[in-house]
Amino acid sequence: MEAFEILFAIFAFIFGAVFASFAGVVAYRAPKGLSIVKPDSYCPSCKRPIKHVDNIPVLSWLLLGGKCRYCKSKIGVFSLLMEICGGLGFMFAYLQYGDTYKNLPIFIALMLLVFLFLVMAGIDHETHDIYHITLVLFAVIAIFITGYRVLVFESNIWDYVGGAALGFGFFGAIKLIAKFVLKKDALGTGDIYLVGIGGFLVGAFPLLLAIMFSTLLGSIIEIIKIRTSKSQREAEIAFGPYLLLGIGFMAIYGESIMKFYWEVLL
Ligand SMILES: [Zn+2]
Repeated sequence: MEAFEILFAIFAFIFGAVFASFAGVVAYRAPKGLSIVKPDSYCPSCKRPIKHVDNIPVLSWLLLGGKCRYCKSKIGVFSLLMEICGGLGFMFAYLQYGDTYKNLPIFIALMLLVFLFLVMAGIDHETHDIYHITLVLFAVIAIFITGYRVLVFESNIWDYVGGAALGFGFFGAIKLIAKFVLKKDALGTGDIYLVGIGGFLVGAFPLLLAIMFSTLLGSIIEIIKIRTSKSQREAEIAFGPYLLLGIGFMAIYGESIMKFYWEVLL
């Protein structure tokens, strides 16, 4: 890697972390019907405005130890993870697709996707819900990226159609089985749309990898959280953020993984 590429990658990380910080504000305020632009960021506990020096993504959280400067109430580790994921998302998208003009439309669409996914993860974290409008926006971005890959890079459309069929079919079947056998809702309808559209975005095999990765990571972290939390209430597991992480990663690296699979392993 040349020096300017490293510099651009660092810049992409900072840019992504700033957008992630804004996505956190959107995810916190939108479900409450509050304005997204006014007022400036404030502490949810003591309502004091957050100084600009205390609002630097990633760094401020680490320097203040994840606490409000004034009232010392905790700012969850989730917001730190959001900012890191946003930074890495933009950086990985740049490293994969920031090299040529031909790739530029995918690079821009992937940055929009990372931002949208951060908003969705934040809302899912706050409310355990996936908003319809965010799924519609996701579908628009997925159709654009897959359409561009098929038309410009001559990718095989059936990979993506198969991915959508796998996502809708597999998760739809789990929901139906759970409904009739366990008599309860195992999956939200939002999750089924998320995985179905995700399949159209990344293709069948990367989707399978994303689902396996998300369920594994989600189960491990949620079990640790249940074991270590003092409250006895039965925790509801929201797999949304883990699915978004897996699908988002595959949106950036799925093509490379498939190439590696075809050329090296077969
Ligand atoms: Zn405070």
